[in-house]
Amino acid sequence: MSAAPSTASPDTLDLSGRVALVTGASRGIGYFVAKELAAAGAHVVAVARTVGGLEELDDEIRAAGGQATLVPLDLTDMAGIDRLGGAIHERWGKLDVLVANAAILGVIAPLGHVEAKVFEKVMAVNVTATWRMIRSVDPLLRLSDAGRAIVMSSGAAHSARAFWGPYAASKAAVEAMARSWADETRNTPLRINCVNPGATRTAMRAQAMPGENPQTLPHPSDVAAKIVALASPALTETGLILDVPNGRFVRYRMPE
Ligand code: NDP
Repeated sequence: MSAAPSTASPDTLDLSGRVALVTGASRGIGYFVAKELAAAGAHVVAVARTVGGLEELDDEIRAAGGQATLVPLDLTDMAGIDRLGGAIHERWGKLDVLVANAAILGVIAPLGHVEAKVFEKVMAVNVTATWRMIRSVDPLLRLSDAGRAIVMSSGAAHSARAFWGPYAASKAAVEAMARSWADETRNTPLRINCVNPGATRTAMRAQAMPGENPQTLPHPSDVAAKIVALASPALTETGLILDVPNGRFVRYRMPE
C-alpha cells in the first residue's frame, strides 16, 4: 500500500471547462460518477445502452445546473467507439477525463461450465471495448492540459476467487492494459489510474451475490466522490490502483 491520493477534496474539485466521458453511465457506479463529475463543473459525455437511465441522469444533471451529452451506444460496436472519438474531437478538440467503467459480470460458474458466448461477451465488453476506447481517445486526452483516465477494476483481478474466472481474468487484463498505458504516457501530463471500488450496492453486485442484503453495502454515491478525485488536475500519481475501501493507492512494480 502507498499514500493516499494527492487530490483535491470533492468540495474543492473544479472541473469547469473540462469534458469527461463516462462509460456505463446509465446506472450503478457510473451513474453517480457522472453526476459527481457534472457537479464539479465538467460537461459529461454519458455512454450506455439504456436510454431511460441516460435520460434520468441527464435530468438530474440539468436540474443541478450541469451539462451532459447522451450517447446511447453498445460498446461491443467497436466502430461506434471510433466514431465517438471523432465526434468528441470535432465538438471539443480534446477530452479531459475518461472513466472506463462499463463492464459485465458474465456468469458465476466453474470455468469448465462457462459457455463460449458468455466468456467472449465478457472479454468483448470488459477488455476489447476498453482497449478500443483507449485507442479512440488517447490522442484527445493528450490534447488536454491535464488528461485523466480512470479505469474501473475489481478486487477480483487479484483474488482469483473460485467461480469468478471470466470476470477476474477480464479485470486483470484491464489493469495490465491501464498500467502499460500509464507507463507509455508517464512523461506527459496524462495520469492514468485504476480503481477497485469495493463491494458496492449495484445490479452487478446483486447478480454476483444474490443472497446478500444490499443494504449492508455502500451506495454507489458513497464511492463516486472518491473515484472522481482521480480526475483532479492536481493529481500526480499514475499507473496505480486506488483501493476505495482502504482509501489508499496500491503500487505495483513499474517497469525498469
Ligand atoms: P452495473 O451493472 O450496475 O452497471 C454497469 C454499467 O455498464 C451500466 O451502465 C450498463 O449500461 C453498462 N454496460 C454494460 N454492458 C454494456 C455495453 N455492452 N455497452 C454499453 N454499456 C454497457 O455495474 P456496477 O456499477 O456495479 O459496476 C461498475 C464498474 O465497477 C464495473 O467496471 C465493475 O466491474 C466495477 N466493480 C463493481 C463492483 C461492485 O460491487 N458493484 C465491485 C468491483 C468492481 P447498459 O446496460 O445501459 O448498457
